[in-house]
Amino acid sequence: MPKSFPSNRRQFVKQLGLTGIAATLGGNAAASEHPLEPKPRLAKNMIFLVVDGMCTGTYGFAHHWSLRNRNAPLHWMQLFEQPDLARALQDTASASSPVTDSAAAASAWGCGQRVMNGAINVDAEGNSLTPLLTHAKAAGKATGLVTTCRVTHATSAGFAANVEQRAMENEIAQQYLQRDVDVLLGGGLDYFQGESLVSIEDFKAKGYQCLRNRAELIAHATHPQLLGLFANSHMPYVIDRANDASLAEVPSLQDMFRAALQSLSQAQDGFVLQVEAGRVDHAGHVNDPAAILHELLEFDECIPLALEYIKNDPDTLLIITTDHGTGGCQLDGAGAAYEDSGPALERINTMTVSFESMARVFSATGRFDPDLFEQGTGMVASKAQADAIQTIIDDPETLYLSSAMANIVGDSLVAETAVGWSSNNHTSECVDVFACGPGSERLPSFIKNYELFGIMTQALGLST
Ligand SMILES: [Zn+2]
Repeated sequence: MPKSFPSNRRQFVKQLGLTGIAATLGGNAAASEHPLEPKPRLAKNMIFLVVDGMCTGTYGFAHHWSLRNRNAPLHWMQLFEQPDLARALQDTASASSPVTDSAAAASAWGCGQRVMNGAINVDAEGNSLTPLLTHAKAAGKATGLVTTCRVTHATSAGFAANVEQRAMENEIAQQYLQRDVDVLLGGGLDYFQGESLVSIEDFKAKGYQCLRNRAELIAHATHPQLLGLFANSHMPYVIDRANDASLAEVPSLQDMFRAALQSLSQAQDGFVLQVEAGRVDHAGHVNDPAAILHELLEFDECIPLALEYIKNDPDTLLIITTDHGTGGCQLDGAGAAYEDSGPALERINTMTVSFESMARVFSATGRFDPDLFEQGTGMVASKAQADAIQTIIDDPETLYLSSAMANIVGDSLVAETAVGWSSNNHTSECVDVFACGPGSERLPSFIKNYELFGIMTQALGLST
């Protein structure tokens, strides 16, 4: 079913920006004209906000940082006090492990079944399971995927693709094109050029507006089909964007979320949009306290944007959650009677570069640079630490220099910031889910991740 874009509606969206959209589109006006007809209230739209790999301790420590440094709680914490908002604890396991990866976690939401870690909507027998955005398309809805990772990465793909292994990102890009995902915003240009199965030209031929920087994103946000690719691989960390002038034209997650809403909200039969803060997980894998803090704070700013949207367009189901923990991130008690834990949070403010960014420089030059390390972290590497880092730079077998480096200086980092870690891996903890809007009343207080699929499809009236 084609989307309809009356020119006056598009004009209004352009003029009013986000705040005016709902009033323009009518909201529940039609329903209130017939108050005596009892109908189950369906959600026309859905916004699924997901932060990848957020431990309870990650938002706990970011919350205390925010209280101390901004005199304000995290928006995430305020959700617990929000009226008309359903909340559940979510069990996050996959079909192959109590500890899920992001592919299996997103597939559980995306198709309603647990699959093996690594698979995207393909079961252990090799059967493809129809993903959520395909159901949404069949109901005439527009669809969108926004992420700070490559758009072909696991969490986004879990709503739209079927591949046996998450690394099949060329196939995922091809399926996005074949399945007409209307809005794709994030990193991952490498999968849309060169030897890839699809190219930007293929998307242009289908009517997509293709975007490469923040200015283009803002200028073309009302176009119904958007392919925005803002990095070759994952988008740079927030902390690096903030401190590197050469990254000023990279949009933020809020920029992409806002643009996606401007585009998708024009669809006559509604939309389904997933927005992922994907790099909280990456910073968790690295055990990088400054990078994870700033990634999470950026995600947190998307929450008021979503709440504002649903206030104006109440036919929208909003779900906010995370897929699993990563790294076992926690603010530890430090000092006598733990009195050093608070001030340790301010120590993170002196950090200006991610371990990923430092690793990139050290790899390129082949040498550890103590000045850059001190400038970026505020720490002086000991001779032993510098030598150990140089050894892993020299070792061709080193796969993840950033996390190897953070591990070498890990004791010093914990001593400075009081942010401790349990590993470089995912964790099995239960996580929060919040839901608001039509269908949210079906959210039980405890839910297994794959059961969220039924909540969403019922709320949207999708036949599965
Ligand atoms: Zn991960």
